Formats: sequence, C-alpha cells, structure tokens
Amino acid sequence: MVCTNDLLRSSRGHLFAMLLALFSGACARPRVPIVAAPAPTRGSSPSPTSSRGSPSSSVPLATIAVLGPSAEADFEYVRARHLQLPVAGIRTDQLSDSFDEPRDGSRRHHAIDILAPRGTPVLAADDGRVLRVSWNSAGGNTVYATDADSRIVYYYAHLDHYRDSLVAGRPLTKGDTIGFVGTTGNAPKDIPHLHFQIMRMPQDGKYWNGEPINPFAILRGEVERP
Ligand SMILES: [Zn+2]
Repeated sequence: MVCTNDLLRSSRGHLFAMLLALFSGACARPRVPIVAAPAPTRGSSPSPTSSRGSPSSSVPLATIAVLGPSAEADFEYVRARHLQLPVAGIRTDQLSDSFDEPRDGSRRHHAIDILAPRGTPVLAADDGRVLRVSWNSAGGNTVYATDADSRIVYYYAHLDHYRDSLVAGRPLTKGDTIGFVGTTGNAPKDIPHLHFQIMRMPQDGKYWNGEPINPFAILRGEVERP
C-alpha cells in the first residue's frame, strides 16, 4: 500500500502531486464517505447484481489496487472478525447456503436466510454502528450496519419489529439485539426468517450497493475464498 506520507517523503515535482491527488484518502480509515441512501425502491436486498456497478469504474485500472483493499483482503478481514451468528439460539450447522440461488429473474440471492420462530432476537453480527433503519416493500423492516472501520456492511431484513431506540448512528456491540425475526416485506408469511447479507463497503460510500460476500462461509468459519 502506498500511503500519503510515503509519497510526501519521496515526492518530487508534478508527477507525485498528481499521484497524491489520485490517491488521497486511500490509506486512512475510516476511508469512505458515508452518504445518505435513497429510499429503497425494490428488492429485499440492495440488488447488488443489477446495480452495484464498479465503485472504481471511473478510475484508471492501474490505481484500483492502491485505492482500497482487494476483495480477498476484505473477505479475510471479515472472516477474522469471528462474527456473531445473527439469530439467537441458532447453531452454525443449521445454516444453509442459498447465496447463489436465483431470485426475481436474473438476480441472485447474495444473502442467506436464517429460519427461526417469529420473535426470535436478531443479533448484531459485529461491533460497529447502525447506518440506517428503514422499511422497504421487499425487505420489510431492515437495518444496515457497519463495522468499526466502515469496511464491511451488514444488512438485516424481514424483521418483525425493531428493538427500542434503534436509530442510525447507534453504536453496536457484537451480540446486541437489534430486532426480532419476522416476515415483513416479501417473506412468506409462514416462514419467519432473517435475510442476512454481507457486503464490502464501496469506495463511494453507497453502502447499500456493495459487492456481496457469502455469509455462509463467514459464519461457518470456513476458509474457502469466494
Ligand atoms: Zn433472503
């Protein structure tokens, strides 16, 4: 990683001035601006396959490696955080992998569904803070949260209801109750479950639009790469 201080020490002339302009913000964490989300329009998840694009699409390819960690690095980062399984009383051997299952035409699930009785506490998977508490037609009652470094995004959907005083900005400790399992949004009314998604925080800060990471391998503590 090339950091600003390193560049400053070796800077000589306009070339490095240009590089500094390109790379500014690449090293400090939190590294991304958190921007306000638009009102969700459809999809129980942020539809990462249809609209996430590339946060670096306007940046020369040669600079991408400098601008942020790789997908593999983020995968290792979140795996090393030893996430809390986000539904109380559920064991890892009860999880199933539906990450690649098709949904709504060409869209993929890019999440896992954790079945549990209605009203079962939904727990914060990681330390960090709440980004957004909102309702949308597919996800129902949803929560976006991030880790302390704003590097990873966690999305929880179909909550029956929220815990009291859950608002954007609230700090979270791994294992905190954030809400309760339900069927809000487009979940089948007889199959209460938590829709749980993990995403990489995009460089542009549009946290609802990040590249998905399979929660199944993360929660099972497995070592396979995505
Ligand atoms: Zn789901």
